[in-house]
Amino acid sequence: MQVTTKIVGLTGGIGSGKTTVANYFKELGIPVYIADVEAKLLMKRSKVIIRKLIQLFGSETYYKGELNKPFIANKVFNDPVLLEKMNTIVHPKVASHFKRWLKKQDAPYVIKEAAIIFENNTYTSLDYIITVIATERTRINRVIERDKSSEERVKAIIKNQWSDAEKVKLSNFVIENIELADTKNQVINIHQKILKKR
Ligand code: ATP
Repeated sequence: MQVTTKIVGLTGGIGSGKTTVANYFKELGIPVYIADVEAKLLMKRSKVIIRKLIQLFGSETYYKGELNKPFIANKVFNDPVLLEKMNTIVHPKVASHFKRWLKKQDAPYVIKEAAIIFENNTYTSLDYIITVIATERTRINRVIERDKSSEERVKAIIKNQWSDAEKVKLSNFVIENIELADTKNQVINIHQKILKKR
C-alpha cells in the first residue's frame, strides 16, 4: 500500500525561531523545506522569475549575477502592492518546486517552514500546522541581534503578520521557544505525536 507523506507546516512570526525548530526536526531525520530559502534560490536561478523581477523592479534587481536583496527589501518595505506583485511572480514557482521536492521524499512526513501561511491562505493545503511562539520583545531582540536591523523595521514586519493568538487558534501544535533545551523536547514530543497520527 502506498503511504502518502504528510505535510506539516511550520510557521511563526519573525524571530520566533522557525528555522531553529526546523533544524531539530532535521536532526530527527525529517526532511525540511524552507520556503524562504528556496524562494531566494529560485529568484537567482529561474529565468522566468529573473525576467519578471527585472520588469517589476528595474535593472538594479540583480548585481553581478546576484539578487540585490537590500534593493528589493527597500522597494517592498512599506509597499504592500509591490510586495504582492513580487509574491505573484515567485510563489507559484516555489509551490511547484515544493511539489517536485515532495515527490522525492521518503519519510512519514515533511516539514514545510514558511513565515506566511495564514495570511495568504496556503495553510489549507497542509495536514498539520505547528506555530512557534515567543514574546514580541524576545523576537525583536533576536532579529536585531541576528540581522543588525532596526527595531522599527522589525516592528513594521510584525505589524503585517497575524498575531500569535490568531495563529495558535488554527494550529495543531504550538511550540513556545524560550529555552532551547525545552524547545528541543517539545519538538521530540510533537514528532512522536505526528508519527502516531498516521
Ligand atoms: P525569521 O522569521 O526571521 O526567518 P525565524 O523564526 O526562522 O526567523 P530563527 O532564525 O530560528 O527564527 O531565530 C532567530 C534568531 O534567534 C536566530 O539568531 C536564532 O539563533 C536565535 N534563537 C532562536 N531561538 C532561540 C532561543 N530559544 N534562545 C536564544 N536564541 C534563539
